[in-house]
Amino acid sequence: MVDQHTTDGRRTAGRDFDVDLDDVLEDDSDGDGLFDDLLSGEPIFENKEVLRPSYTPHELPHRTDQINDMATILVSALRGDTPSNILIYGKTGTGKTASAKFVSQELEKTSKKFDVPCEVEYINCEVTDTQYRVLAQLANTFIEQNKAFIDERVESLQDLADRAREDEWVLDNPDLDRDFETLEDVENEIESLLEEKSEMEDVPMTGWPTDRVYSTFFDAVDYVERVAVIMLDEIDKLVEKSGDDTLYNLSRMNSELQNSRVSIIGISNDLKFTDFLDPRVKSSLGEEEIVFPPYDANQLRDILQHRSDTSFKPDALSDDVIPLCAAFAAQEHGDARRALDLLRTAGELAERDQADLVTEEHVRRAQDKIELDRVVEVVRTLPTQSKLVLYAITLLEKNGVRNINTGEVFNIYKRLCDEIDADVLTQRRVTDLISELDMLGIVNAVVVSKGRYGRTKEINLSVPIDETEAVLETDSRLGDIENVAPFVQARFEN
Ligand code: ADP
Ligand code: MG
Repeated sequence: MVDQHTTDGRRTAGRDFDVDLDDVLEDDSDGDGLFDDLLSGEPIFENKEVLRPSYTPHELPHRTDQINDMATILVSALRGDTPSNILIYGKTGTGKTASAKFVSQELEKTSKKFDVPCEVEYINCEVTDTQYRVLAQLANTFIEQNKAFIDERVESLQDLADRAREDEWVLDNPDLDRDFETLEDVENEIESLLEEKSEMEDVPMTGWPTDRVYSTFFDAVDYVERVAVIMLDEIDKLVEKSGDDTLYNLSRMNSELQNSRVSIIGISNDLKFTDFLDPRVKSSLGEEEIVFPPYDANQLRDILQHRSDTSFKPDALSDDVIPLCAAFAAQEHGDARRALDLLRTAGELAERDQADLVTEEHVRRAQDKIELDRVVEVVRTLPTQSKLVLYAITLLEKNGVRNINTGEVFNIYKRLCDEIDADVLTQRRVTDLISELDMLGIVNAVVVSKGRYGRTKEINLSVPIDETEAVLETDSRLGDIENVAPFVQARFEN
């Protein structure tokens, strides 16, 4: 099959789906089957996984300073000392998670190499968002490690016992063993270890009193000598949802631990979250602070260039693709996640077009698509009352009303509430909900002066109307509203 290029760079032929199945099954003389052809006709991506958020890059351009700062603090763990706690700040997409994970992988690698007991436990507090769950997850991780540790110890003791059974002299020789005098001692030790293991009970995901979870966690960490680095990503979400008790408890542990030491790395998207912390927690957690500034367009270019080398086929990107993705993402507060999303989506759009070159136009379409996906997600997760307010605004716009005022929204909103038996909020509250929609970028509400008649708001939808309406109507309550046109016409009669 030969690819035929048209002038606009699209590949047209080349994919012949008119295959006779018998031919495919019987004729494998040249080794090319149905899927071989489809696979070889893949001109855009070399390895798409490299562009996904789950991928941890091994090289992080423009983060050398932050990575070195972290390493300089954490290296004391490898010397058996307790590293200072670290607080990492920066907006989303500035590489905090990727850098912290990279550093912890390196730390664990080196600790294995030199056989120093040091572990990093990563917790994403957006998912694990209560004190109970954080402590339970940590307790269970350490319990599992302790059990593995016991298994290893028991295995070596059993080996020792076997050898001692054959030759009593093994236990008398200080080069082979220093701890046991008789075979019975070894057997007793094995037995007591196995008993300890059987008493190690996993913490259930709900149901225990919190102090029991805490003490189980405490005992599990302290079971052996080690430095445990606990990395709490999105720590602001934890504090927002369940206060600073977890941090208070974790930051005080070291004074009571016998064998082990705990050090905390907190990562926050919110620069001001420490304002809500107990001053003691604040000073303990913020012993060291590292800031991740937003990337500028040039830095984003480097990052994209780096990642595209392994993710795209050679020559799959036209020259302006990376600079444009970088420029768009730089406007979005220098968000590398957004830049990578754009690049991947642009590649997918090109793939769908069966083009063999990603162009500037694909990037622009990708930008629109990502923006629309964001809007859809925001609208879908609005509370019902906000959805009703937004629905009222879309209905008015659909009927050609522009520069809608709050009173008009309120009238339609009331009728919608009646229709589905929802509580009707006051006009004051509805005005607040409109301001929230404004902050989310879904509507644009500007205050205009009407001279001596005072001031009023002029509201316009700032997102595509059809998609917004479609998402609103997927809500089962709003979907029940029938015959909305008469409400809106009533507006003109008012
Ligand atoms: P944050 O945790 O600050 O929100 P992430 O670490 O999750 O940001 O980074 C977002 C995305 O951008 C990830 O896919 C990450 O791999 C990538 N990324 C961020 N900074 C860099 C960098 N300096 N080099 C390469 N990739 C980066
Ligand atoms: Mg992150």
